[in-house]
Order: sequence, then structure tokens, then C-alpha cells
Amino acid sequence: MGTLVDLLRSADKDNISVIIPGNEPLMVSHLTLEHHIKSCQQQLANLGIFPGAAVSIALPNSLEFIISFLASAWQRGIAAPLNPAYKQDEFEFYIDDLGATAVIVPRGAHEKDSPAVRAARKYEAAVVECYWSEDQMMFDVKEKGKLDSSEAMHLNEPHVDDIALVLHTSGTTGKPKAVPLTHKNLIGSMEDNICQTYSLQSADRTMLVMPLFHVHGLVASFLSPLRAGSAIIIPSRLIPAFWTDFALYGATWYTATPTLHKVLLSFRQPEKMPYVRFIRSCSSPLSQQLLMMLEERFAAPVLEAYAMTEASHQITSNPLPPASHPPGSVGIPRGDIKIRIVGVEGGEVASGDEGEVCVRSPAVMTGYLSNPEGNASAFTGDGFFRTGDYGKRDEDGYLYLTGRIKEFINKGGEKISPVELDSVIARHHAVAEIVSFAIDDEMYYQDVGVAVILKDGETMSAKDLQKWMRERVAPHKIPKKVWFPAEIPKTATGKLQRKLVAEKMVREEE
Ligand code: ATP
Ligand code: MG
Repeated sequence: MGTLVDLLRSADKDNISVIIPGNEPLMVSHLTLEHHIKSCQQQLANLGIFPGAAVSIALPNSLEFIISFLASAWQRGIAAPLNPAYKQDEFEFYIDDLGATAVIVPRGAHEKDSPAVRAARKYEAAVVECYWSEDQMMFDVKEKGKLDSSEAMHLNEPHVDDIALVLHTSGTTGKPKAVPLTHKNLIGSMEDNICQTYSLQSADRTMLVMPLFHVHGLVASFLSPLRAGSAIIIPSRLIPAFWTDFALYGATWYTATPTLHKVLLSFRQPEKMPYVRFIRSCSSPLSQQLLMMLEERFAAPVLEAYAMTEASHQITSNPLPPASHPPGSVGIPRGDIKIRIVGVEGGEVASGDEGEVCVRSPAVMTGYLSNPEGNASAFTGDGFFRTGDYGKRDEDGYLYLTGRIKEFINKGGEKISPVELDSVIARHHAVAEIVSFAIDDEMYYQDVGVAVILKDGETMSAKDLQKWMRERVAPHKIPKKVWFPAEIPKTATGKLQRKLVAEKMVREEE
């Protein structure tokens, strides 16, 4: 099993681990990467980074991020990536919540007095800038904060049960929750699950699309490829260089959210991308329409996966060919992952019936940080994590997600799936985009609201849509209110927050 220290061990040392495209592209071998990590681990030890110290990493996707992350985890610190684009209030929330000992920022952040630097100062975390000096990555302590760098630490060797990483959930359904993940959780997720599911090999090359401060980018596009001995291409900017670099460096796969797939497809792609083995989609529902567009564009299978922070990312995925998979499913679990669909009574439901998706696996966290109430209700008596997602399984064990429990529309006790309504309304020829959500209702407690964006040149009234739906769904599912906004707000990672859309529609009407 091992720890993140073993991450690079199976690879041929001369294999390329990281590619930074550019006029003079940087090709970093596994051996060189290991050298940088060890050197930075030594520097962190010299700075006094002790076992269990939280090291926030506020860097963009980069080689510097990868080295900082692994150097922290190898030194038995807790790596805690943060979105470098956060504003000060956000940095303050996360740095305080993590009790961060140090915050790693890019060169020059201190002079600019960046939001990360100001937030670190407020909570007395050390401000550490990283920079390159003659091909060596260096850490430079700008403010010591509470870090006692007079006491150099030994080089540490992590244990499998040490927390290697703390990430917060996306906060789609409420306040983000701090999820501690151990070396064992992470190795389980990449080795027994992601590497196996997609048969990742040293010859693979993945294009990094997702941000590394979420579990999707971190585990699927960074840790797993390195574990497989393969390479990560880190484009400096997604657009416009993405497709040129994709073809030039022979990417064999990439993973992204449906929103990002759409953005990438809207730019011109090279004629030929002959090496592509598969494309992975995860983190929000992938429409059949987008799946087909991607499959056509890449002439490769598109595999949808289901994942979450608490499970160190992937729970299920559709398999590579020759196995086929039913449309609309997010796939099957692998290895030691057990799934149970739990009904309202608390027992497992029959296949085909809906309930809460619960999961147990060596990759699932043991509990949120400092959140006793959250933890008390997060697990079943026998250790299954309650995902908060509704779903069902078919006879072959393929999982279908039907929505989030907190987002179900509760109309007088009748639960309505917003995901189901979305997929029905998306079939209307005039509809370009659609979101269904709960709105407050005096009579029924909640009722159905929808926001619709029409295709260019199309027209439709609320009455037209209600009439069209009457032929397709039960009467209680007909939307009470229909909005036609100019755009539908999403989170930074392209996630849909139905509650926020609802609030925005209602607010703008007032
Ligand atoms: P919070 O828990 O704070 O509300 P979050 O659940 O969005 O935020 P993440 O851990 O980033 O935080 O996301 C996990 C969730 O993403 C899952 O519980 C599920 O609802 C959703 N998800 C993941 N993959 C898919 C998918 N393929 N299709 C639909 N939803 C998905
Ligand atoms: Mg969640």
C-alpha cells in the first residue's frame, strides 16, 4: 500500500512526469521531480514544519504546486490547497478553519500584499514564497508568523494513517466542510480505483484541465497519473493554447466537468488527435448530448464518473471498452468500494428503487474535521458514508444519480427530483439550458420553479411549457413558476447551486 512517499517509486526514473509547454518546453523526469520534492522537503524541515502542521498552498496549477504539495505531505505536514483566486474573506475562512501554520504563495505576492498574504498575517500563519534559483525550487519565508523556524525539524517519514491532505467540499449545499484524507485514503483511491479503472500506464499523458485545489484535479489528474508512472501536461492557460498543446504533446486522456468540456469544445481543435484513449467526465451530470459531441470529436469513449471529496474522489465510473455501459449511468464501483442504496426506513432498497447512495471503502474519510454534529449523521451504524445524493441501481449494479437530497423539491410531502425535471424539459426543441429548483409555497411548503434559457430565435411562454409538460409528467411536477433569465449562475467549478438560482430568480422578480 504505502504512502505518498511511494508515489513515484514504481516509475522508470527517466519517464517524463511533468510537461510545461512553451517556447522552451520543460520536460521534468520522475527522477528530477523526486529530487525537487526532497530538496523542498528538507527546506520545509529547516523552516520548522512539524508533523501535523497545515501548509496551505495558494498557487495556481503549476510544477511549483506539485512540488509544494508532495514536499509538505512527505514531511508529515498536511497539505491544504486553496484557490489562489480567492478574495481575502475566503482566504481568512479557510486559513482560520485549517489553523494553517504556513501559506505558500507565488513569488512577489508579499510585495503586492495579496489577499492570501493579508489573511495569513491575520491568523499568524507564516508567509512562504516559492521561486526558482538555478533550476532549484526555493522557499523564502517572508513572515514567520507563529512558525518557529529557529527549531529545524528532522526529515520525517509519514505513516499510512497520517492526514496528508485537507480539502473543503465545494459548498454546493451549505458551508464547505473540511475533509481530512490520509495517505491510505489517497493511495487507495488512485491505486485501487482510478489507475485500475482506466488502465493508466507509463505511456499515458494527461492534460491538466481541472484546478488542483479540488479533489477532482488533485487525485484524478495529478496523483493518479504520477502513480501510474505517466506524465501530466500543465498548460499555462486553458485557452487558446490548450488544443495545440494537447496534440503537440500527444495527450491520451483528460478529465473535466461537463461545463469545462463545453468550454473546451467551443474552441477550434486540431484535425487529428490520434492518441486519445478515453475522455472522463465527472463532478456534475453529463448530458447525453454533450457525451455524444465529445465522443464524435475525439473518436474515443467518454466515461462518466461519480466522485466526492469525502471519498478521496472516485466512487463509480463507467468502464473502458470492450465493456459497454447503459446510457445515463455513472457506472459501477471498483475494488473494495461497496455501495448501498438506503431507503427512508433505513434499510437497503431493491434494485431499481430510489434511495440515498451510501458508500464504504478504504478511500472514504473517517469524519469531517471539528464537526461532531456533521459526523454523527454522516455515517450509518456499520460505517457507510451517507453521500447526500439520491440514486438507484439497475440489476447489473450500474448506478444512476437522481439528485441531491437537500435539493429535492418537497411539494406537500411529495419528493420531486429536479434532475428528472431537467432531463424532461431539456428535450423541448426550443430549450438551450434548464434548471429546476424548489420555491417556497404557502400551501405546499415547496413547489416547482424552473429557469429556462431558450435557443436563439425561439420563443416560449410559461403557459406553453406547462402545457407541453402536462403530456409528459404527473400533474404535481408541473412548474408553478417559469423564469427566462439571460444566464444561469454557476460556482467557480461550474457546479450548479439550485438554491442560489432559486434565490436569484425570486430576488430579481421583486
Ligand atoms: P457540499 O458537500 O459542500 O455541498 P459538494 O458535494 O458539491 O459540496 P464535492 O465533494 O466537490 O462537493 O462534490 C461531490 C458531489 O458532486 C456529489 O455528492 C454529487 O452530488 C456531485 N457529483 C459528482 N459526480 C457527479 C456526476 N457524475 N453526476 C452528478 N453529480 C455528480
Ligand atoms: Mg457534498
